[in-house]
Parts: sequence; structure tokens; C-alpha cells
Amino acid sequence: MDALIWAPVPKGGKDFGHPSMPELMRRVRDTLQTRLGGPNTSDIVGAPGSIQLRNVTAGYGGAPVLSAFDLHINPGEFVYVVGPSGAGKTTLLKVLFGVVRPETGWVLVDGIAVHRLQRWQTDTIRRRVGCVFQAYELLPHLTSLENVLLPLQLAHARMRHARAYAVEALELVGLKDKLHEFPGTLSGGQQQRVAIARAVAHQPRVLLADEPTGNIDSQSSSEIMELFGQLNEMGSTVVMATHDEFVLASYSAREVRLQPPTLMAVAS
Ligand code: ADP
Ligand code: MG
Repeated sequence: MDALIWAPVPKGGKDFGHPSMPELMRRVRDTLQTRLGGPNTSDIVGAPGSIQLRNVTAGYGGAPVLSAFDLHINPGEFVYVVGPSGAGKTTLLKVLFGVVRPETGWVLVDGIAVHRLQRWQTDTIRRRVGCVFQAYELLPHLTSLENVLLPLQLAHARMRHARAYAVEALELVGLKDKLHEFPGTLSGGQQQRVAIARAVAHQPRVLLADEPTGNIDSQSSSEIMELFGQLNEMGSTVVMATHDEFVLASYSAREVRLQPPTLMAVAS
């Protein structure tokens, strides 16, 4: 695998002194250019905010859902994952989020080798990636603010100002006046926005969203898409699974198309 790995100087090794910051940056840049053949950081394997899958086979023990699957997503790109129900859209997002471990191949998300993470290490990726699930999975007995704050505190035990970040995220999604309401009193679109606030509160470079407009009306869908567009313009890489034609028409972006495994088998 050609991911970049910075090996520390071994203890007891020769001490070359500490280079100053600009000198260090120059060396890092030069190293990257010679290793990868150019200054275009968007093509760098493992660059912050980028995603690479190489030869990934993944599934649930039976016939694989993804077979020899390759994908490269640049930092700051917006990509749809499309395909009929059962095609493997959710599975792909789970592979990116470290929930489904591939049988073969490798997966880099924001520079993290997700395929290598052990079960107990998956919070490494949760801290770096925001994920909006298909069912919002809000806790019904917690307020909007608590639903955003609790996972933030769990993921970043020592984070200062966590409450302020949670409030900011809820303001960003337009729910400033709903901080202390419970999910049951919110509309579907508002609940989805709480889920998005929860995903963006820790300011991830990569945002994954699984059919985020699946259970809401078209007015709320437009608002949600506008929100993802804004997050993308602020620099987040967005990977969104959808089979919603309305969504695809409202915001154009690259489409990665998945086919159900049975259809592939029939076709080949
Ligand atoms: P999509 O999100 O495109 O509808 P999924 O990734 O959910 O597709 O499902 C892809 C295939 O994997 C389907 O055939 C589905 O039945 C199967 N599958 C999904 N989740 C599981 C699971 N937890 N256990 C076993 N099979 C699963
Ligand atoms: Mg799905």
C-alpha cells in the first residue's frame, strides 16, 4: 500500500536537531512532490479529506455486496452513491465508517487506514468523520442539544467548549430556537437537521449521509440539500447515498453507481 507513513526518528537514533516550522513544511512539501510526482495535493493518497478504496470486497458473510471495488474521492468533493435498493449503498458507507470490515482491499478515509482498525479503535474514525444515518437515530428522551452534545463528549472526552460547539452546530442547521425540544415534538425535517448537527458538531472533514432525504417532504428535502451544499462549500467532503431523483436533479455532482450483486451476476 502506498499510503504516506511518517516514521518517527527511533529513540537513540542520530539527533539532527529540530528544524524550524517553515523548514519542516518545505521538507514535507518536497517529500510529497518527489514521492507523488507533483504539487497537486488532490491526488495524494491519504490526503486530509480524501477517500480511497482499492480492490475492496465486503459483505455479511454470504455473497459479497461489494466486489473488487475501487473509488477515489478528492478532498472537498461532493459525491452521490446511487443505485436501487439492495445495491450496497449503505454497505459502502458502513465500510467508510468502519462498521463493516472489508474481506479484502484497503480503505483510507481522511488519511486513516479504516480497514486496519480493530473494533475498539473505531472511535478514531468516528472522531474524524460525521455520519447521518437513514433513520435519524435520535435518542427520544434527550433534547436536540443533548442529542448533539452527548456523542460529542463521548468522542472527545477532553474537549473544552463542547456545549458551545453543539449550540453552534444547531444554529448552523437553523434550529437555534429548538435547543431544548425533544425529537417527538419536531417535524421529520427538523429531526433530520438535528442528526446533521450531530454529525457536523465536531467539524469533520468528511461527511457521510445515508439517504438523508428519504423520510421527509420535498420542501424539507430542498432545505437539507442546501445545507449539505453549504457544508460542502465550507470544505467538507460529502458522500451521500440516495435514490431520490428530486435530490439528484436539485444539486448536480458526480454519481458513483452501484448495482445489486444478483444483477451483476446475471449480467456477467
Ligand atoms: P442499499 O443501501 O443500496 O439498499 P444495502 O447496503 O443496505 O443496500 O444492502 C446490500 C445487500 O446487503 C442487500 O442484499 C442486503 O440484503 C444485504 N445486507 C444489508 N445489511 C445486511 C446485514 N446486516 N446482514 C446481512 N445482509 C445484509
Ligand atoms: Mg440503504
